[in-house]
Amino acid sequence: MTAQIIDGKAFAARVRADVAVHVTRLKADHGITPGLAVVLVGEDPASQVYVRSKGKQTVEAGMNSYEHKLSADTSQSDLLTLIDQLNTDPAVHGILVQLPLPGHLNEDLVINAIDPVKDVDGFHISNVGLLGTGQKAMVPCTPLGCLMMLRDHHGSLSGMDAVVIGRSNIVGKPMAQLLLGDSCTVTIAHSRTKNLADVVRLADIVVAAVGRPEMVPGDWIKPGATVIDVGINRVDAPEKGADKTRLVGDCHFASCTEVAGAITPVPGGVGPMTIACLLANTVTACCRANGLPEPE
Ligand code: NDP
Repeated sequence: MTAQIIDGKAFAARVRADVAVHVTRLKADHGITPGLAVVLVGEDPASQVYVRSKGKQTVEAGMNSYEHKLSADTSQSDLLTLIDQLNTDPAVHGILVQLPLPGHLNEDLVINAIDPVKDVDGFHISNVGLLGTGQKAMVPCTPLGCLMMLRDHHGSLSGMDAVVIGRSNIVGKPMAQLLLGDSCTVTIAHSRTKNLADVVRLADIVVAAVGRPEMVPGDWIKPGATVIDVGINRVDAPEKGADKTRLVGDCHFASCTEVAGAITPVPGGVGPMTIACLLANTVTACCRANGLPEPE
């Protein structure tokens, strides 16, 4: 069997096109332009790339992008003051603080200072609670993108056995909540899980969010299962030349492709969907703030 490749890049382009249509309508019918504020503290190179890409795609979708770049030694109180200003700024509908923050800043405190209605990353404790209790929440972008691809591929997920490898607050836990919400039977695996291979072999859906290059081999995958590879790992690629690198996921793509029914590639799978969902969440936040119907 050769797995169907789930094309996250193409799917994300469709999501962004839908977002752009909604933005055009919000402007034409209500005179409102959704705005996304991104706060970057410090100069982490990967974070700089993500923030640039988020800003570019926000503008391409017709929205306003506000970038706040703060020095690495910004104090907690200065950061909280900025968040307070953004919370009360009517032009800002979504606020994202790029993680990780420098070590002297308290991430929980900073995230929980964001107005939950503007919390487009869905990390505020209120949104975590709303998601966990099946209420209308702002849903974290990466797991939301994974769920959209799974629903698109399968239609209903009801009754399927899902294994999520990884229990982080930003990917693993919300992913498990979303799959539970869609009536999957969900197992959350992590670094202390016993017999991980046997656990994964039971799954109709495998979501790998570990951060270990190519950790999941094809012989862990149940024939025909759907594999969603969240991992983004940069590894040496001597075959491309000295000092060259390439991106790989948490799953061993070549061997998983021989067994799985469908799989997301890295790059070009979950990654593009994450930013597309961020834009979609910003439109949703804008509609909620203005008492307007939300996009489906
Ligand atoms: P974290 O490091 O926060 O969490 C990793 C999880 O993997 C932990 O729960 C850890 O278990 C578990 N784990 C580590 N080693 C093993 C192992 N040997 N066996 C089983 N489980 C293990 O990572 P994130 O959730 O933030 O990210 C995961 C990956 O997804 C990374 O590669 C990251 O780059 C990528 N990512 C991709 C995004 C995208 O847009 N595509 C967005 C966000 C992340 P324990 O809790 O026991 O330590």
